[in-house]
Amino acid sequence: MKAAALVRPGIVELVDVAEPECGPDQVVVRVLGVGLCGSDLGVYSGSRPVPRTPWVLGHEGVGEIVEVGGRVRDRRVGQRVAIEPNYCCFDCPPCRSGFTSACVNRVVIGIGVPGLIAERVAVPAAFTFPVAEHVALVDLVCAEPLTVARAAIRRAGIAAGDSCLVVGTGSQGLFLCAALVALGVTPHVVEPHEGRRELAVSLGAVVADDAVRDVDFVFETSGVPAALPPALSRLAPGGTAVLIGISAQPLDLTLWTIVYRQLKLVGSLIYDHPADFAGTVAALEDGAVAPHRVLRPGFPLAAAPDAFAAVRSTAGKCWIDLTA
Ligand SMILES: [Zn+2]
Ligand SMILES: [Zn+2]
Repeated sequence: MKAAALVRPGIVELVDVAEPECGPDQVVVRVLGVGLCGSDLGVYSGSRPVPRTPWVLGHEGVGEIVEVGGRVRDRRVGQRVAIEPNYCCFDCPPCRSGFTSACVNRVVIGIGVPGLIAERVAVPAAFTFPVAEHVALVDLVCAEPLTVARAAIRRAGIAAGDSCLVVGTGSQGLFLCAALVALGVTPHVVEPHEGRRELAVSLGAVVADDAVRDVDFVFETSGVPAALPPALSRLAPGGTAVLIGISAQPLDLTLWTIVYRQLKLVGSLIYDHPADFAGTVAALEDGAVAPHRVLRPGFPLAAAPDAFAAVRSTAGKCWIDLTA
């Protein structure tokens, strides 16, 4: 069986791996598509260390169940599923309160355990979400990053008609724009890359000019520390900034800015199990959002090395199409 693996930093190759064995609480999924994102690039570049090489990459996977473990009662062969790639432990204090994104024992597919860019993978049944047949693969493969976007929207508490600024329209910013438009919000966007800006506009966003001030919400997706202070200056007093992009660099920001203007800062990390993924699947099934417009044409599995090389410069999302 073939898989795309990191053999050393910056080098992805197609490798032969053993067939997955289906544990009693697992299902084996024939993988149909896997999206690539910034956290994959961290593994690709070597900045996010992995346990060993060759290391199978990828975490935004979808597919079809081909085998069901002995103790699994609520999944069946033939179901198409989205895979939630963050396994919470269900047992630590945050997990017990439903705040699984803060799980202290969280295991991330593609980082703590091998990834999903393989012909078949074994995953815990509880972290697979069956999806109706009518949802196209190109929408289904967006399920994970769309869930990140929808969880940020949920935590923000933004509603139809509110004003907002989205900083950065890399693929996560684009999924956020698609989800905001579906909610009845017109996002204003700040993005230096012309192609990414145009893609956001095609989704229903508006490029923010200097007149955009006093917005109710800012969504920071770029992870560029210098981008936050100017964005906060556009928030209305009492407004909310939702921070999604990650950086280890310090921020050039004063307490005066936050306190005097009574701003709310909300960090939003992934999503909480199982409600956020289930909500995304329901939105895909009823057609409330059609995220496929964020996707670029898929790369076949054999071209996985080219896909990784293309992620950083591409407007929109690169993905591996294992049906190609
Ligand atoms: Zn991702
Ligand atoms: Zn936990």
